[in-house]
Amino acid sequence: MVDLDNKRPPFSYRGRFAPSPSGLLHFGSLVTALASYLDAKHHNGTWLVRVEDIDPPRELAGASTEILNTLEAYGLHWDESVLYQSQQSQLYEETLRELANNQLTYHCQCTRAQIKKLGGIYPSTCSTLTLSKENNAIRLINNVGTFEFNDIIQGSYTGDKASAAEDFILVRKDGLFAYQLAVVVDDIFQNITHVVRGCDLLEPTLRQLSFFNTLNVEPPSYSHIPLAITNEGYKLSKQNKAPAINNKNPQPALIAALHYLGQNPPEELLAESVENILKWAIAHWSISKITKKKEIVI
Ligand code: GLU
Repeated sequence: MVDLDNKRPPFSYRGRFAPSPSGLLHFGSLVTALASYLDAKHHNGTWLVRVEDIDPPRELAGASTEILNTLEAYGLHWDESVLYQSQQSQLYEETLRELANNQLTYHCQCTRAQIKKLGGIYPSTCSTLTLSKENNAIRLINNVGTFEFNDIIQGSYTGDKASAAEDFILVRKDGLFAYQLAVVVDDIFQNITHVVRGCDLLEPTLRQLSFFNTLNVEPPSYSHIPLAITNEGYKLSKQNKAPAINNKNPQPALIAALHYLGQNPPEELLAESVENILKWAIAHWSISKITKKKEIVI
C-alpha cells in the first residue's frame, strides 16, 4: 500500500536508475546511470535499479538482461535486488482503488485526436460522466497542478500552467498502467529520496509532484542532466536506435561520460580499471559541475 499518511522513515539517500527495456543502453543512458550512481555513492547512499517494463508492446526481447549486463560491465553495481515494474501490478491496483475511493479519478473515453481538436489540453470532459472501465482510460483529478519546482541542476523550472493542471492518465485505454502512475508509486515504494535523470523528464516532473502531493507523500529531490543529442538535433534514444555502448571496453565510454558530466577526469585515468575510474569519480563527484543546459550535442 502507498503510505497515504506520510509516515516515511527518514532515509538519508536512496537513488535509482530506472531504464525502460525498449532498447539497449546507449551513451545518453550511460550518462544518466553514471550520474545517479555517482551522486548516490558520493553521499554514501543506496543506489537501486528498477526495470520499467510496463509497456510490453514497446519492449525489446532480452533488453532487460542486456541492460543489467551492461551496468555490471561498467561497474555500476546496485545495492538491493532489481525491482521489475511488471511485478508491481497489485500495488498499482491498490493505489488506484484508494484514489477511486477518495473520488480522485474518473474514466475517460476521449481519443487523442479529439483532445487535439480541443487545443491539445484535456478539458476534463469526462469528469462529469460515469463511464465503465472497459476500453476507457483512468485519469487523476489534478487538483494540485504544480507548475514549477526547483531542480538541483537546472534551477527553478516553470512549465506550462494549463498542461501542468491537466487531469492526466494513470491507466491507458488499452489497460496498461501509465508511466506517471508507476514511477510515482514505485519511487514511494522504494523510498527514493533523490532522482537523477535526463532532461526529457523535466516537464513530466510537474505531474509527478502533483501526484505526490495528492498522495500526501513528500517527493524526492530532482536533478535533471542535459540530454545527449546528435548533430542533427535528435535525442539519443532507444526508440531512434542510438548505438548500444560497448560492454567489452567500458573505460573510454566511462571517461567520455565523466567529461560530459563536467567532472574533468585526469588523462591518466583512461589507463585505469573500471573500479579505479569509479573510485576517483565518486571521490571527486560534484553535481554543480554539470552544465545547466537542457541538451548537449555529442
Ligand atoms: N523509464 C524511464 C526511461 O527510461 C525513466 C523514468 C525515470 O527515471 O523516472 O526513460
